[in-house]
Amino acid sequence: MHGFGPESERLARLILDYVIDRLRQSPPPLDGPRTPEELRDATGQMITEHGLGPDAALALFRDVLAPACISSDHPRYVAFVPTAPTEAASFFDLVVSAANIYGDWWLEGAGAIYAEMQTLRWLADLAGFPPDASGVFLSGGTAGNLTALTVARQTWRRRHDTTRPAAVAVAPSAHSSVRLSAMVTDIPVLVVPGDEHGRLTGTLLRDALDHADQEVFAVVATGGATNTGLIDDLAGVAEVCQDRGLWLHVDAAYGGAALASSIARPWFDGIERADSFIVDPHKWLFAPFDCAALLYRDPNLARAALTQHAGYLETLAPTAPLNPSDLGIHMTRRVRGLPLWFSLTSHGTAAYDAAVTRGIELALATADRVRQAEHLELVMDPQLSVVLFRRTGWDADRCQAWTDQALASGLGLLVPTVHDGETVFRCCFVNPTTTLADVDALLDAMR
Ligand SMILES: *Cc1c(COP(=O)(O)O)cnc(C)c1O
Repeated sequence: MHGFGPESERLARLILDYVIDRLRQSPPPLDGPRTPEELRDATGQMITEHGLGPDAALALFRDVLAPACISSDHPRYVAFVPTAPTEAASFFDLVVSAANIYGDWWLEGAGAIYAEMQTLRWLADLAGFPPDASGVFLSGGTAGNLTALTVARQTWRRRHDTTRPAAVAVAPSAHSSVRLSAMVTDIPVLVVPGDEHGRLTGTLLRDALDHADQEVFAVVATGGATNTGLIDDLAGVAEVCQDRGLWLHVDAAYGGAALASSIARPWFDGIERADSFIVDPHKWLFAPFDCAALLYRDPNLARAALTQHAGYLETLAPTAPLNPSDLGIHMTRRVRGLPLWFSLTSHGTAAYDAAVTRGIELALATADRVRQAEHLELVMDPQLSVVLFRRTGWDADRCQAWTDQALASGLGLLVPTVHDGETVFRCCFVNPTTTLADVDALLDAMR
């Protein structure tokens, strides 16, 4: 199994040909799920004592398993939050696997960690974080929120020399992973009522804190709500957090990519005053799964909370410029920031500005289409790249039936969501290859 020989050479071609072929297809087949029984019948026994050989194994993936997975980079995949890695980022992901870099200690991964740090610096600069801000690439926004809340609470406990319970304040716009993180860390949640669109504002936060019957140590604001694309009043919230000495974490897992868009950056004003924020490059910064960036205003607070100690770790110089293991709830880590680093270094930041801005412009154009269509009704003006709209006369079952049919026919994936108790349709655009013609095809199919 080990050792590079002529057979490895052949295997490399086999795999690379598959990869090139997959990325060349534009669009790739949309595909869709199958039942475990169907998959069992189609694959037969895959894991055997003597192996099937790489050709048969790859054929199983190509012909049976991959077609049972939706291609989330399909241009008419506008559900949830799509993904759209650049070719550069996708190819470099192969390099990350081949290079076998241990990404947690400077001793082992200095060069790769340095490249990741430069990439995080780009994000920190976009947000307006200070020069000694730093962070780490984690597996996803969920891990980012969990880690940030853990550091925030540990910092508060240390400063106040206490372990008494204290709450995190969140608005209805907060992502479900924030509540999950609070559950895992056993942090009580103070729910702050949002404005008419569910957004957290400084005024509503101040009011809720004044009337809260529990102590609060942190606030999570959202930089682009997943369901609506709306950004909380970050400046107002930051003001209150500063006044009251509360940790401000901005969950910008989806929307934070728009910090790179010159038209959208002003909407995030206030984020520069946060203590931490996250952005998922695997969502709208064109990196492959799984890649989330967590930034700390003061990384020493994360170190104080998260550094692990063990006899066999003592050899790691405490003077190392940076050990990413100290900044997250993890140890072994793939240098998952490198595909973004490679793509960003190759293409330059202007290309990122243009590609992210395209998603925002497509949302505006889609909203116009919805306004003009007599079978559709816009729920609210879009801010980032999410558009919510009604198909007049359709109930939740009818919406779901349309979605199932659109997927089964290979048209696209556009799913309903629940907003304010009502089932409506939701599009989310991050893929620069999605065109207004794709949108028209989807909307026309709802007539
Ligand atoms: C997607 C998302 C998350 C969760 O991120 P994962 O990478 O899926 O774990 C958290 N918050 C927001 C606002 C999101 O959009």
